[in-house]
Amino acid sequence: MTPRQRCDLLIIGAGPAGMAAALAAAPRGLAITLVDDNIHPGGQIWRDGPGSTLPPLARQHREALERYPNIRLLCGTRVVGLGGPSAPQDAPALLLEDAEQGWIQHSHRLVLCNGARELLLPFPGWTLPGVTGAGGLQVLIKAGLPVQGQRIVVAGTGPLLLACADTARKAGAQVIRIAEQASWRALAAFALQLPRWPAKALQATTLFNHHWRASSHVLHAQGQGRLEAVRIQRGTRQETLACDRLACGFGLVPNTQMGQLLGCALNDRQGLQVDGLMATSVPHVYAAGECTGFGGSERALAQGAIAGHAAAGDTARARAQARQAALARWQGFADLLHTQFELGEAVCQLAAPDTLVCRCEDVPLRELASRSSWIDAKLHTRCGMGACQGRVCGAATHALFGWTPAPPRHLLAPARIGTLAQCPTPVDESTGIRP
Ligand SMILES: Cc1cc2nc3c(=O)[nH]c(=O)nc-3n(C[C@H](O)[C@H](O)[C@H](O)COP(=O)(O)OP(=O)(O)OC[C@H]3O[C@@H](n4cnc5c(N)ncnc54)[C@H](O)[C@@H]3O)c2cc1C
Repeated sequence: MTPRQRCDLLIIGAGPAGMAAALAAAPRGLAITLVDDNIHPGGQIWRDGPGSTLPPLARQHREALERYPNIRLLCGTRVVGLGGPSAPQDAPALLLEDAEQGWIQHSHRLVLCNGARELLLPFPGWTLPGVTGAGGLQVLIKAGLPVQGQRIVVAGTGPLLLACADTARKAGAQVIRIAEQASWRALAAFALQLPRWPAKALQATTLFNHHWRASSHVLHAQGQGRLEAVRIQRGTRQETLACDRLACGFGLVPNTQMGQLLGCALNDRQGLQVDGLMATSVPHVYAAGECTGFGGSERALAQGAIAGHAAAGDTARARAQARQAALARWQGFADLLHTQFELGEAVCQLAAPDTLVCRCEDVPLRELASRSSWIDAKLHTRCGMGACQGRVCGAATHALFGWTPAPPRHLLAPARIGTLAQCPTPVDESTGIRP
C-alpha cells in the first residue's frame, strides 16, 4: 500500500451509525472507505464471536455492505492521529494503521462514528482481577470467555446492566445481584414512559431479573490477588456478597477525542456538536451515533443515514431523512435515559485516598485531591499520560472533580514508529487544525 490513500468519503467506525452512513451514501457511487479497529463490522452492540449470535438486523447490514463494490471495508484498522495538511476543499487527512503498515488517508468528506466507551469510576478494589466494565464483560463473554457456574454481581446504572446480566446468564453464569444506583422512583418513572417505545418495553420484560435492586451501589471489591466478594450499599443497609466477577457500568462516555483533535465543538452532553444534517463545527466533517451523545443503536442508525446522505452531497435526502419521526423518537428515548439514570453523588465519591484513579500510571486519589485541573494533575502526577491517554481516568476525574480533560494534541493512541514516519510534515496551522 502506498503511504497516501484517497477516497471520496471516509467513515470512521463500522458500528450501526457507520454502517448506516455507508449504506446511505453508497448508491451515489462514491468511493467509500469504512474503517474500524475491530475485526468485524458491527460496533459495540452487533459484536459476534464464539459466545454470541448476530441479530438479523446486524446480518442484513453486513450483507448489504458486501453488495456495494464501492464500499471498501477496512477492519482491524484504526485512526491513530492527524495526517498533516489537506486541501481546503477536502476533509482533514488522518493517519491510519493496520497490522502491516501505516498510511495517510485523504478524503473529500469525513463522517465520525466513533461510538462510546464505558464510564469506569474508581472505588476500593476496582483494579482487582475479576472486576470489569458491564459492557466489557459482555464483550469478553461474546468473545468466548467461559463464565459457566460463576457468581456474578453487576453494578452501576442504566439498562446496560440488565443486558450484561442477560448475556452472563445465557452463558451459564449465576447473576446474584444487579445493583442499580437509581431509586425506585426514577425506575418507576422510566417504566411508565417505556410504552412509548414498544420494542424497548418488550425488551425490558425479557431482560427483567429478580436480583435487580434499586438505590444500590458498590462500595468495595474485596479479595487477595483476585476478586472474592463485593460490599454493596443497599438503601440504608450494607451487604457483602461472595462472587467471582463484578461488572460495573456507570454509563457511557462519547468517544469525542478524534473530533476534538480536528477542532470539533462539543455539546452539553459531552458529545460532538452536530446540526440537523449531522455536520460538525469543522467544515467537511460529519458525526453520527454515540459520539454525538449516548442514545442507543436505533438513534445511531437514524443519525448515520442522515450523515451518509449529507456527506455524499444528497442534501434533499438528508433533510427528508431528518424530517422522519425516527430520529426524534429515539432522541426522546435517549433524553429519558439521561434523566432517569443520572449518576448520584454517592457513586462519584467511592474512591478512598489510596484508590488508584489513573491505573496506567498508578496515580491514587490522594495525589489528585490537591490539584486544580486536569492539566495541573497531568503535569504533577502523570495522571492520564499512560497507554489509554486519559480515556478512562479523564472521564473519571470529570465525575470526581468536574475537570474537563484537554483534547489530545496529535496522536489518539500509541502508534508504531513506522506509522509516524509516514507523516513527515508538521501539522499546518493555517488549516485551522489543532496541532
Ligand atoms: C462496551 C459497550 C457495550 C454495549 N452493549 C450494548 C448492548 O448490549 N445493548 C445496547 O443496546 N447497547 C449497547 N451499547 C451501546 C451501543 O454502543 C450503542 O447502542 C450502539 O452500538 C451505538 O452505535 P455507534 O455506531 O454509534 O457506535 P459503536 O457501536 O460503538 O461503533 C463505533 C465503532 O467505532 C470504532 N472506532 C472508534 N474509534 C476508532 C478509531 N480511532 N479507529 C478505528 N475504529 C474506531 C469502534 O471500535 C466501534 O466498532 C454498548 C456500548 C458499549 C461501549
